[in-house]
Amino acid sequence: MKKSVITHIVVMIIAVALGWYLASSLTVQRADIIKIEKQISKAPLGGFNKFASDVQWMLFINYCGGLDAVKAENVEEIYKRLNGILNNDPNHEAAYEMGGMMFSVRAPQKAVEIFTRGAENPNLKDNWRLPFYAGFVLTQHMKDSDDDKRLQKAEKMFRMALERNNSLPHILSALIRTRAKQLMKRGNWKGVPIANDKHAYLCALYDEWRQGGGTGGEVFSGNAVGVSTDLRPMLLVAAQKAKASAPNDKNILNTIDKVMDKVLKAEHLCAKCLNSYAPGDRFCGACGNRVVVYGTCPVCGNIMKAKYCSRCGCDDARAKEIINKRLERRRARMARPAVAAPVVKPAVAVPVKPAVKPAVTAPAAK
Ligand SMILES: [Zn+2]
Ligand SMILES: [Zn+2]
Repeated sequence: MKKSVITHIVVMIIAVALGWYLASSLTVQRADIIKIEKQISKAPLGGFNKFASDVQWMLFINYCGGLDAVKAENVEEIYKRLNGILNNDPNHEAAYEMGGMMFSVRAPQKAVEIFTRGAENPNLKDNWRLPFYAGFVLTQHMKDSDDDKRLQKAEKMFRMALERNNSLPHILSALIRTRAKQLMKRGNWKGVPIANDKHAYLCALYDEWRQGGGTGGEVFSGNAVGVSTDLRPMLLVAAQKAKASAPNDKNILNTIDKVMDKVLKAEHLCAKCLNSYAPGDRFCGACGNRVVVYGTCPVCGNIMKAKYCSRCGCDDARAKEIINKRLERRRARMARPAVAAPVVKPAVAVPVKPAVKPAVTAPAAK
């Protein structure tokens, strides 16, 4: 008797726990459905909207197969059919992708509308192509006269695509180029006039790096959307291209200095062409410019490959000791001749000079 009561209680507790779990997971699913519920057609289909959309999709494919091209005459018809499908099934991924593609050249505004609608559907939040295509059409197939906010919208779309897939470098570069176009349009960056498109790209990339929390530039990976790409190599290439595009432009040089100081301080770069050089190099291998030598043993000048110099065996502490000793010796030498030299020098130099001079002029006369 007692045992069965305990069993009943245990079963009840498990049932309540399972019920609670099921209810919470259904609430989440329901929330997703509610978000798109408004978009579903109110046509009296008795809940068979999904089935109706599949039939419409087949008819649509059939209709499109009969077209030789998307033209001004059939744009409205295609748009109407596509809307019919999407109204019955707002989660129809293929309809967004194919429909948007069809309009991208003939009716870019309609293409953007279809792609954006798909991109903003919470049930398709893993699809990076829809926002990427929307951004692409906004930047490549539309003009400011079509929509003067197109670049801001494109930036938002590219960022959304990057959040969904951060392994594709072309999404990141599309995002930076869109930011650069906005800077070109504005004409200046933090009060500095933009010299050309390469300069704008460098500024846009630097902004992205800053937004990602790049502070000292020592250890950094990531940007505003948490992409694991290290932006520093991209910044270096962008700086090289900007410099090559206008080597003497004051504004470009100022921006490069800023980037060098904040981001690329740890790199050893030639001041003239921004190419990196190796330890022990005295001249840049790319342009022949004299560079600041680094990575050599301070005692013997050998290139340091490890903690100890492989030629003289000194390490940092010993090198410091030797250098200090040398300095002391030099100071002592400097201090001594201050008294003796003025007396000795003329006495030695005067008789020697005439003796040497004829020896030099004689071979010249031959
Ligand atoms: Zn160089
Ligand atoms: Zn050494």
